[in-house]
Amino acid sequence: MAVIEEPARQTPILAETDVLVVGGGPGGLAAALGAARQGARVMLVERYGCFGGVIAQSMVGTIAWYRTTEKTVDAGGIGVEFEQRAKAMNASLQVNHYQVLDTEVFKFIADQMIQEAGIVPLLHTQIVDVLQADGAITGVITESKSGRQAILAKRVIDATGDGDVAARAGAPFWIDPKEDLEGATVNFGCSGIDLEKFITHILKNPSSIADWGDASGEKEATEFSTYIREPFDKAKEAGEIPEDVRMESYWGSFTDAGEIPNMNAIHMAGIDSTDVWDLTRGEIEGRQRVMWAVAALKKYAPGFEEARLRTIGASIGCRESRKILGEYDLTEHDVLNQAEFDDSIGIFPEFLDGNGIAIMPSTGRYFQVPFRITVPKQVENLLVAGRCVAGDKVSHAATRQMMCCTVTGQGAGVASAISLESGVPSREVDIGRVQDALRKQGVRLT
Ligand SMILES: Cc1cc2nc3c(=O)[nH]c(=O)nc-3n(C[C@H](O)[C@H](O)[C@H](O)COP(=O)(O)OP(=O)(O)OC[C@H]3O[C@@H](n4cnc5c(N)ncnc54)[C@H](O)[C@@H]3O)c2cc1C
Repeated sequence: MAVIEEPARQTPILAETDVLVVGGGPGGLAAALGAARQGARVMLVERYGCFGGVIAQSMVGTIAWYRTTEKTVDAGGIGVEFEQRAKAMNASLQVNHYQVLDTEVFKFIADQMIQEAGIVPLLHTQIVDVLQADGAITGVITESKSGRQAILAKRVIDATGDGDVAARAGAPFWIDPKEDLEGATVNFGCSGIDLEKFITHILKNPSSIADWGDASGEKEATEFSTYIREPFDKAKEAGEIPEDVRMESYWGSFTDAGEIPNMNAIHMAGIDSTDVWDLTRGEIEGRQRVMWAVAALKKYAPGFEEARLRTIGASIGCRESRKILGEYDLTEHDVLNQAEFDDSIGIFPEFLDGNGIAIMPSTGRYFQVPFRITVPKQVENLLVAGRCVAGDKVSHAATRQMMCCTVTGQGAGVASAISLESGVPSREVDIGRVQDALRKQGVRLT
């Protein structure tokens, strides 16, 4: 790639903080709240205009849809608080043993939780570089409408999903070739649906996880799934959707107003979320596919005859990109064999969805989540939370789940605050103290 030389310049310092969290998705929200509740001065920076990450940008409210039976054992903590807050505001739909969040109201709930915890929020601000001294991160460079600025921080948590901060700081990471990354999605919502007609049709023609084609076992194969494919197959037969376009839809919830707020039907391969050309192509191609999908639903899905497209996600949703190499890299064996760790910062049910695997946690089995998967190699005072934590391809199908992102987030937040209190680098924090603090914050560790 051709390059230009930029002149050296002076960059104004926008703010100084104890703990800086970059990225306001489930991982970043939990990290900021965990650190603030532990007494640290916290700043949360987000590139878009609201917090919530994939919840807000792609309208994904199914943060705990794996809790289909009472047997599932969960960590508790901030992820469950999200559900409870939404329920208390009548901004969720109860299904089985979980709440589907109203993702529009959730944007407000996130604002409220941040304000109550005394966190300093900063929206419309992208982190573009890092500041470092003696091998430790000391702050970040931001770009926004206010120009190029710096934020100085004693501890930093990278919750960007893509590991942007860790990568810019030189922490080692891995990323698959784009052909092997999980598909990217432009989500959409519809209104004007005759829900009685639609649900009656679904109940007469139920789908199960086996229909996905990647169910891993007998118990998954029989589980009901909000999955529809027939309308899209019919549209393909009629030549209305190209044969080679993958289209099948999951629909997470509905409202009394005749809406399905989130249809997850578009799955585009070959998109690397760290490549801006891929993101551009994905957004545009995704919208084309949304138009095809809505036309197919109107023509072939009972109840959708008068439906209309209501929303398209504010951003393409990507499921997989960089993952740091951590002090420990979580493995397939760990997540499938109830791993236990001395440095547990929470648990997560044996729930895997992604990379061709579907395992539902209907057995009560779960694994412990070690602190070390949030600790990147080489860079001091930086922790990572959310989907870019350290682990292999199969473990990613568990750790990328939003509830697991809140577990790594809350753990990284509390650990950052305690490492600062005790004057040691993040990686050397007294894990016993972190665990005591997490228990006090309502997290189950074993
Ligand atoms: C279409 C789709 C459907 C899904 N369905 C489900 C589901 O039903 N249930 C489930 O549990 N999981 C689901 N997932 C997976 C899950 O949503 C993600 O893995 C999870 O949101 C990751 O959380 P995170 O906090 O790590 O990152 P994100 O939610 O991606 O949040 C990262 C945040 O960081 C911000 N950011 C990024 N870079 C920068 C930067 N340089 N500077 C400033 N801010 C930045 C982003 O704008 C974003 O708000 C789905 C994912 C997709 C894409």
